[in-house]
Amino acid sequence: MSQTLTAIPALTRLAEDEAIFRDSVYEFADREIRPLTREMDDHAKFNPDLIKKLFELGVMSVEVPESYGGAGGTFFHSVLAVESLSRVDPSIGVLVDVQNTLVINAVMKWGSDELKRKYLPKFATNLIGAYCLSEAGSGSDAFALATRATEKGDGFAITGRKLWITNGNEADMFIVFANVNPDAGYRGITAFIVDRGTPGFTVGKKEDKLGIRASSTCELLFEDCVVPKSQILGDVGKGYKVAIETLNEGRIGIGAQMLGLAQGALDHTIKYVKERKQFGKAIGEFQGVQFQLARMAMDVETTRLLVYNSARLRDAGHPFLTEAAICKIHSSEVAERVASMAINLYGGNGFVKEYPVEKLYRDAKIGQIYEGTSNMQLMTIAKDLLGS
Ligand SMILES: Cc1cc2nc3c(=O)[nH]c(=O)nc-3n(C[C@H](O)[C@H](O)[C@H](O)COP(=O)(O)OP(=O)(O)OC[C@H]3O[C@@H](n4cnc5c(N)ncnc54)[C@H](O)[C@@H]3O)c2cc1C
Repeated sequence: MSQTLTAIPALTRLAEDEAIFRDSVYEFADREIRPLTREMDDHAKFNPDLIKKLFELGVMSVEVPESYGGAGGTFFHSVLAVESLSRVDPSIGVLVDVQNTLVINAVMKWGSDELKRKYLPKFATNLIGAYCLSEAGSGSDAFALATRATEKGDGFAITGRKLWITNGNEADMFIVFANVNPDAGYRGITAFIVDRGTPGFTVGKKEDKLGIRASSTCELLFEDCVVPKSQILGDVGKGYKVAIETLNEGRIGIGAQMLGLAQGALDHTIKYVKERKQFGKAIGEFQGVQFQLARMAMDVETTRLLVYNSARLRDAGHPFLTEAAICKIHSSEVAERVASMAINLYGGNGFVKEYPVEKLYRDAKIGQIYEGTSNMQLMTIAKDLLGS
């Protein structure tokens, strides 16, 4: 063997700054978020003081360059933040995920210098963003969106209704996809940034959900809502590219959310099986239980490899589309399976709100739905296999 061969570092070996960042975010989550998790789930609302602390921690602007006041991190750092927060509360995980992997990502990649100057420093202080693509009639078929934008003076007037918008209640800026030329099909889709308070724009009803209840999911209404052309993200008619490219990356963030959730369920279960006694000993001493724990750990480890690999491919500028699809579908199935096994091992206590695992089971379900359902991920994987 040649001595000039360079060793490729193991995927799950973190660089020193990555390890420090991950540990500090997890310590924060354990200390500041864990005591509020049940209350936020019950009331279906974030604690506003907690949101302030997330900004102070730097996790609301992970990739915003230091020159704009952000943390100057990588996409991989965002993934570590989402994982560490979701280990304690996947609702906080999705707040931070949408902010970083969709909203900030889109502004950094597609925003004009003016838009960057306007929004990036605010993401580092108190601005929350939302990403608004889905509608009642267009979910998986996202580019069938019916929201229209018509040229009006020096801007565009947006009319339509968005549905299922994460951070709808907390956000003050919204990336809204609308079609400026329906005859051109998806090539008419354009991404606009709409600020809260713009006349003609209102946030509608908030959904009452099965899981990630603290995270707001809202409808948005646009009625002749005029935004200047300077608020267009990317070019007119290129919104489909903005949507595809950011969602391809955002999917890795959902993988991280599901990974954190599964790790959190495993953490709780390890603690519980050491404490709960039946037949005169801790249930963790039974081999049947140990094998179930081992399978949970296998699932968590394979998920971590897929999530970290996709994120590292993305940061290195390599293709990652299929890897991200595999990572999302696998991680969401694992989250559901591991949370379900956690409930089994908690017995009756797993089924009640006094213990933390029933919430994780409810929270896991969303992973197979948003940012492209599992069937959509399977289509991406199959297309790659068949070269179609
Ligand atoms: C809590 C929550 C938060 C969300 N946050 C956001 C957000 O911030 N921004 C945003 O824009 N959207 C958001 N969404 C919307 C989400 O992305 C969509 O719900 C999702 O893409 C699925 O669309 P749909 O609900 O219309 O389901 P549908 O597209 O109607 O799908 C229903 C079923 O049909 C299957 N299906 C559809 N077409 C095919 C096909 N061709 N082949 C095989 N199977 C198919 C799907 O896989 C699924 O199982 C959120 C949704 C939820 C529930």
